[in-house]
Amino acid sequence: MGRAGDPIPGLESFDLATSSPKHGVDRREFVKTVTLAAAAIGLSSSVTTQIVEAAAKGLKPSVIWLHFQECTGCTESLLRTANPTLAELILDLISLDYHETLFAAAGDQIEDALHTAMEANKGKYVCIIEGAIPTKDNGIYCKIAGRTALEIVNEVAADAGAIIAIGSCASWGGIPSADPNPTGAKGAPAVLEGKTVVTLPGCPANPYNLLGVVLQYAVLGTLPALDEKARPKFAYGRVIHDDCPRRGHFDAGRFVQQFGDEAHRAGYCLYKMGCKGPATHANCSLLSFGEVPGSWPIGVGHPCFGCTEQKLGFRVALHDTVDIVRPTPPDTYPPIKADQGNVGAIATGLAGVVGGALVGAGYMASKKLGDSDESDKKKEE
Ligand code: SF4
Ligand code: SF4
Repeated sequence: MGRAGDPIPGLESFDLATSSPKHGVDRREFVKTVTLAAAAIGLSSSVTTQIVEAAAKGLKPSVIWLHFQECTGCTESLLRTANPTLAELILDLISLDYHETLFAAAGDQIEDALHTAMEANKGKYVCIIEGAIPTKDNGIYCKIAGRTALEIVNEVAADAGAIIAIGSCASWGGIPSADPNPTGAKGAPAVLEGKTVVTLPGCPANPYNLLGVVLQYAVLGTLPALDEKARPKFAYGRVIHDDCPRRGHFDAGRFVQQFGDEAHRAGYCLYKMGCKGPATHANCSLLSFGEVPGSWPIGVGHPCFGCTEQKLGFRVALHDTVDIVRPTPPDTYPPIKADQGNVGAIATGLAGVVGGALVGAGYMASKKLGDSDESDKKKEE
């Protein structure tokens, strides 16, 4: 039965005090994982060492993980890693005191675990919310143990030391809030007005981003710098387009025209297939999912669909293109001979030619070249 502080069955794998692996997790793996998470949030090496030492001493922040309207994909992405040590380590670095999906307990037992953890760690526990919260008709569309998600999230958040919304559902509504949003689904920040809710949008969110935030809070008692949507800047400060491995092809005007064509097989830019990377803030290209290099949409040949952005994910059609907010400066690169027989993006920007033959990126780049930063910001909102 899963009571507060109990290990997760099958995941009680690593003795942090002695660093002795029980299921093949060694100290090197442990240090590597913690270091990677700390580095991801932009902490200095001395602070990283502090975090590693604190974690190795057995520091385990109490975490209460709530599930509402969602697919559990964010939890799955944490557990279904190519290398299971990531999940084992994360679950050993925190004291997961309540998690409906992972707990063997049910009914009164798991409700007891929730309230025991809340009382024992009042004001200190980390409340992680996965899933949107239905608000229509007093929230009757999601009930757990006879109480609505609205009631539960308000109760648990009231005494939390930190609140984190993991995934797009919890951050801004995600799939459950897609039009026509029949249940009035909202993200946690919209429900917990006035509270700081760190958002980690993504469908799913990257587990390393979560681990970084939780470790910083547990060791330093602080939260990372957040943007205006309460997303950690270390993970959401740049758009996918900035760090995309296909960016060279975009700059050179080499675009996939249709799935399976020669350009697609050659790994060219997916902008014309509807890639939302130029308007999507996330670090997917820098932190692979499942610890497999290239394991993210663009890495496997599919356009980014903008899952971290409320105005894009599940709202804008998959293959619609977005405006280019930061076009390549027109005189930075030498002229490019376009492979597809169209006008290259750079040449288009230089000439300012607008016509039916213009390729999508070139057209959007020339359209946006004169825009100010202010109008760019509005475009992203
Ligand atoms: S954000 Fe995506 S992966 Fe996460 S729970 Fe929602 S639908 Fe599932
Ligand atoms: S448009 Fe998409 S595929 Fe092309 S460089 Fe930008 S992010 Fe990468």
